Amino acid sequence: SLKILDTCVNCDVCEPVCPNKAISLGEEYYVIDPSLCTECIGHHDEPQCVVVCPVECIIIDPAHTETHEQLHDKYTHLMESK
Ligand code: SF4
Ligand code: SF4
Repeated sequence: SLKILDTCVNCDVCEPVCPNKAISLGEEYYVIDPSLCTECIGHHDEPQCVVVCPVECIIIDPAHTETHEQLHDKYTHLMESK
């Protein structure tokens, strides 16, 4: 999963581009739900939130590092539960 840092300026451009609806406005700034973020695997070649973020405040979450295979499994499960 990716993670949004507190340097987020709440511009809201990332939320609509997330294919998994993993991004929402938290208490102070935008947050990513690690159970929904596939790092865009299954949908896009690169993380769409990172592509659009103007302040580069989105990083790999050190608390939720996953292999490509784990991310792809998450994608498959999310698709099945739709
Ligand atoms: Fe959503 Fe992709 Fe960003 Fe994860 S990397 S929060 S799936 S846009
Ligand atoms: Fe925050 Fe970046 Fe998303 Fe804008 S695009 S809301 S600065 S994480």
